[in-house]
Amino acid sequence: MTVTTRFAPSPTGTLHVGNVRTALHNWLLSKQAGGRFLLRIDDTDKERSREEYVEAIRADLAWLGLVPDGEERQSARFDLYEHEFQKLVAAGRVYRCYETAQELELKRKVLLGRGLPPIYDRAALALSEADHVAKAAAGERPHWRFLLDHDQPIEWTDGIRGPQHFDPRQMSDPVVRRADGSWLYMLPSAIDDVDMGISHVLRGEDHVSNTAAQVQMFTALGAEAPKFAHEALLVGAEGKLSKRLGSLGMAELRESGIEPQAVIALLARLGTSDPVDPALDADALAANFNLAHFGRAPARFDETELARVNAAIIHRLPFAAVAHRLPAGMDDAAWETIRPNLARLSEAADWWQVVTGPIAAPAQSDEDRAYLAAAAAVLEQVGADWAALTAALKEQTGRKGKPLFLPLRQALTGQDHGPEMAALLPLIGQDAALERLRAAA
Ligand code: GLU
Repeated sequence: MTVTTRFAPSPTGTLHVGNVRTALHNWLLSKQAGGRFLLRIDDTDKERSREEYVEAIRADLAWLGLVPDGEERQSARFDLYEHEFQKLVAAGRVYRCYETAQELELKRKVLLGRGLPPIYDRAALALSEADHVAKAAAGERPHWRFLLDHDQPIEWTDGIRGPQHFDPRQMSDPVVRRADGSWLYMLPSAIDDVDMGISHVLRGEDHVSNTAAQVQMFTALGAEAPKFAHEALLVGAEGKLSKRLGSLGMAELRESGIEPQAVIALLARLGTSDPVDPALDADALAANFNLAHFGRAPARFDETELARVNAAIIHRLPFAAVAHRLPAGMDDAAWETIRPNLARLSEAADWWQVVTGPIAAPAQSDEDRAYLAAAAAVLEQVGADWAALTAALKEQTGRKGKPLFLPLRQALTGQDHGPEMAALLPLIGQDAALERLRAAA
């Protein structure tokens, strides 16, 4: 069996961390099995879907490196939905209803008031053909519900939640089509999953009750249901559903200096028992991706952790991968030297400024100024060689540890901390280094 997964966003907004996690997990699931990952644009809602969001979704996936093996759009597939729908009509698996939203709400309230579950009472099933004709004549148009088979218990083994069991008698027949002919999400999605040969549907646990109804839709469509897995919802670092998470998009992360590999590395493991692996290559993550490692508890997304993973990723990025984003003139050696000090790539420019100057160095005590004058003299002899410079100064002055190193670092870089001086000094070069030592002395 070819593993085929799909990511099915509605283009009614840009992707946020939660949808990206779903996209990524579907990507990993398919890649691990050498399968296919499809992007399905769920744009049946003409009012709310926008082309700019379709483009933004594509751009975000491309930025993340989650390139789909194919793209489909629901708005181009209405003929297929109509065709399958007519078969369900003929088979009596969908039926016409006329209740208004207010009437349904009233029915719900009555049932709840009597301590009963608010399940649709199937009143419309009792309508005769003459009733339908009369309603049509009166200008009333029906919406359609899918008729659940009450004698068919709903069961599936969820890839994350384990065995699932639903009693269709405890469920309302879902509305699948509105009175204006437009589609609700559930039926087109099931039709597409069959038509596109989707083998695994991996999505958020907010879809579990949809799955219960869809399991019967697959049967009614004459198809086998795909394998399902529902992952726990994403929550903020405080463990609560967070508004910020629901809106935290890729553009914002990108602007704050987060690398796509960091988003991938963190989200790949979020909700699992696996440690975060700051891999540069998402294929490496696919190899270890395992639904069995997912827990049932909400997955916590922590921006501090993302920042940590981001630094770990940057410390591994090769020069070739970042060259075009570095300040002009910064070469491989400079990147290797500066990289371990970066939490964000943009900080490379600050360190490059330290290399190329000018720098602002702190004022030194008289004693340290004398020491820096001596250092200048040594440097003139030994060149931009940190080991030789400090060995000679240690010998000459008897200084060691901090008093030996810190005034030099401050005079040469203007900073108390930073990249290894042994690598930094040759980048600064003998002439500039001499100038800086003399200026501080
Ligand atoms: N468009 C649906 C959503 O975004 C797709 C759900 C699914 O994966 O089936 O919720």
